[in-house]
Amino acid sequence: MLPTKGYAALTAKAPLTPFSFERRAVGPHDVLITITHCGVCHSDIHQARDEWGGSIFPMVPGHEIIGTVAQAGAEVTKFKAGDRAGVGCFVDSCRTCAACREGLEQYCEKGMLLTYSGRAADGSITQGGYSTQIVADEQYVLRIPESLSPAGAAPLLCAGITTYSPLRHWGVGKYHKLAVVGLGGLGHMAVKIARALGTEVTVLSTSESKRADAMRLGAHKFVVTSQPMALVRLQRHFDFILDTVSAPHDYNIYLNLLKTDGTMILVGVPDKPAPLEPFSLIMHRRRIAGSVIGGIRETQEMLDFCAEHNIESDVEVIPIHQVNEAYERVLKGDVRFRFVIDLASLK
Ligand code: NAP
Ligand code: ZN
Ligand code: ZN
Repeated sequence: MLPTKGYAALTAKAPLTPFSFERRAVGPHDVLITITHCGVCHSDIHQARDEWGGSIFPMVPGHEIIGTVAQAGAEVTKFKAGDRAGVGCFVDSCRTCAACREGLEQYCEKGMLLTYSGRAADGSITQGGYSTQIVADEQYVLRIPESLSPAGAAPLLCAGITTYSPLRHWGVGKYHKLAVVGLGGLGHMAVKIARALGTEVTVLSTSESKRADAMRLGAHKFVVTSQPMALVRLQRHFDFILDTVSAPHDYNIYLNLLKTDGTMILVGVPDKPAPLEPFSLIMHRRRIAGSVIGGIRETQEMLDFCAEHNIESDVEVIPIHQVNEAYERVLKGDVRFRFVIDLASLK
């Protein structure tokens, strides 16, 4: 077993505190990664506070993990010591169901094994990337292109793939008008990726203060949703809407901005359900859909796409002892656009 240092929530309402635990010994198919950076996703906050139910404590959050391979098991073929490597939101799946065989491990029939707050087949609890090192099967580990900075690449492993996957699945591209609702960690990646796909991008935001940033990130238009007339002008304007909002909100006002046959894709996961007005869908044959992260093959494709298009996350790097403060700032929308923990601060 490998003694490891991290930061954990010991219970649902507790702040994160220093925590020592053990990683499994490196098996023949495993790599041991010394973690250099880990992004702070809003899902970490939802789960550390048990807002979705089912959280397992003590919990070391973190699923946007970048580091260097310290050791590769005897049978490992993809990695050698010294390589850069990444781990995203899951570290295993059944590997045999139709979804796994298609490379859609996130939709595994038996459920993916989450990077943290997951229970492995042997009963052990998984722990995430707010820690010094991680052991994972090489099949669930990503190659990180050298041209990407480690801090700027970390958020790609969740925020990047969560926005890339639905844009690709629904074929969003040139000739489409896309609205991105919420300009946070996911939203700012959606803007960059959609721009690289040639899409016309409008940001719908509650924060006037993000206007200049939205344009710098590549948005064509920025609309503050608290101005009702602005939304009236956008009725039946968009082919797609990608909703990244983390808090409960009214879906119907956005559905009415879709053209006939338009699709609104939910990726944000508020902790409470919201009412759906059937007429918002019926009158223009609209669709509402959802998407969760992406499979390993598609995550690798996204990393290579980002390297090719010089896309990284805009990050604010913090030492780990500032993580509780960072959580409060994410909840206030005070982050441009992702906190990333420098794990050198934990040594
Ligand atoms: P984030 O950085 O906090 O961004 C969320 C954005 O939502 C905020 O920046 C804000 O943008 C907007 N917002 C917040 N509260 C709002 C409210 N009450 N009304 C309207 N807009 C509000 O969070 P994130 O890390 O991007 O994650 C976003 C959501 O996606 C979370 O629920 C997270 O759990 C979920 N998620 C889902 C997946 C998946 O696979 N589906 C993966 C990762 C994360 P403006 O200031 O621009 O309004
Ligand atoms: Zn995430
Ligand atoms: Zn499976």
